[in-house]
Amino acid sequence: MKAHDGMYIDGTWRPAVGRDVIEVVNPADEQVIGQVPAGDARDVDTAVRAARAALPGWAATPPAERAARLAALRDVLVARAGEIAETVTAELGSPLKLSQTVHVGAPIAVAGSYAELAATYAFEERIGNSTVYQEPIGVVGAITPWNYPLHQIVAKVAPALAAGCTVVLKPAEDTPLTAQAFAEAVHEAGVPAGVFNLVTGLGPVAGQALAEHPGVDLVSFTGSTAVGKKIAAIAGAAVKKVALELGGKSANVILPGADLAKAVNVGVANVMSNSGQTCSAWTRMLVHRDQYDEAVELAATAAAKYGDRIGPVVNAKQRERVRGYIEKGIAEGARLVAGGPEAPRERGYFVSPTVFADVTPGMTIAQEEIFGPVLSVLAYEDEEDALRIANGTVYGLAGAVWAGDEAEAVAFARRMETGQVDINGGRFNPLAPFGGYKQSGVGRELGVHGLAEYLQTKSLQF
Ligand code: NAP
Ligand code: MG
Repeated sequence: MKAHDGMYIDGTWRPAVGRDVIEVVNPADEQVIGQVPAGDARDVDTAVRAARAALPGWAATPPAERAARLAALRDVLVARAGEIAETVTAELGSPLKLSQTVHVGAPIAVAGSYAELAATYAFEERIGNSTVYQEPIGVVGAITPWNYPLHQIVAKVAPALAAGCTVVLKPAEDTPLTAQAFAEAVHEAGVPAGVFNLVTGLGPVAGQALAEHPGVDLVSFTGSTAVGKKIAAIAGAAVKKVALELGGKSANVILPGADLAKAVNVGVANVMSNSGQTCSAWTRMLVHRDQYDEAVELAATAAAKYGDRIGPVVNAKQRERVRGYIEKGIAEGARLVAGGPEAPRERGYFVSPTVFADVTPGMTIAQEEIFGPVLSVLAYEDEEDALRIANGTVYGLAGAVWAGDEAEAVAFARRMETGQVDINGGRFNPLAPFGGYKQSGVGRELGVHGLAEYLQTKSLQF
């Protein structure tokens, strides 16, 4: 795999100050496929200075020109889609088809959406005797995870650039090659030097230095709730704006009138996709007591069909973590109906698609984010019980409701404490705001709501 031995700062690839490196491993076969520099606080400082220096020029660039650069970025991503998909597969382990359609397809759509929004958004409005301006918030420190390595980057960088902000990105240590490919695309798209900068490195070193840097105006973080709390505390102490996209434990609520087989099959696919490493995955399936046995059987059959077709999880630590949760589920009395903790292959960080029945709301596997291909099926007595269970975690990122009648599903969804709900299998919408209630986060990404996160308001009175 192609790997740069430098960091993309101020429009060029320059060596890191220190000598530490990160080895990139293919999780499907455990082979080292490349290495990148592990930057530290000194590299972060250089990158933040470059971003600050570029800020006045980029903020003053007409929105139409920023839009043109984003459209060019989308076009480069399209032209390089095959190569980037192979990079995602090599470092994340996702099946190539998933890399092409989702890992690269979604960011292309998102980059395109911000090319349009930058050109059409009202950065200025009249309110009575005032003119109100939406101005860029400044230098953005973006910290991203590995689970959708390109999407998580584009979901931050594209709106930030559309808004007129400049960016320093610290991507996940497990997936730095995708981030390097993205930096190449930004360069090829003609984005001016310093507007986008990349520092590869470890979270507690480079990530923390970025969050703490006084030259950063907004920290936008996606990842675990534990690290998110630290970032929020750092930002709070400095009165910096913060956006957090954290974990989830979303509910897939199947009401009695729904098409049960469809709801279960789509629900299982949702959890198994990307080997369960999706923050918005519907990892709790809620089924009425009368339909419970049938649903469990359908779910077990559906999961078994995935067998070898899902990819590995991202690394050995993550595999052990997921297996630990499966063992905990068994120990706490849940009934295993598909998969289990045993390694399905000798090589690679694989976990079997796993389904638990007889899960009760208080069990660890019904409360904590597992981030692996593990589904819990819970029984409810009536709608009020279903709602209590659905809302009964610290999270609130996403969810699904299935019912015979759309209005009934909508009424239930409106009572869920969560940021996004799919009704009867509703499709992904790259323009719909995405983000969490409760401990799933602060702020929204995507579409016009995602753009607003990178703007601050000034009013002039006449
Ligand atoms: P994580 O540690 O929260 O990683 C997210 C990003 O934050 C990475 O770039 C990481 O760098 C960085 N980071 C780590 N510690 C930091 C610190 N002290 N200061 C600043 N930045 C820091 O998540 P993870 O370890 O990869 O995964 C652990 C769990 O988080 C998963 O099992 C899952 O439950 C959850 N998760 C959620 C999402 C989501 O989309 N909501 C995504 C990924 C993971 P490194 O890569 O160097 O650690
Ligand atoms: Mg980590």
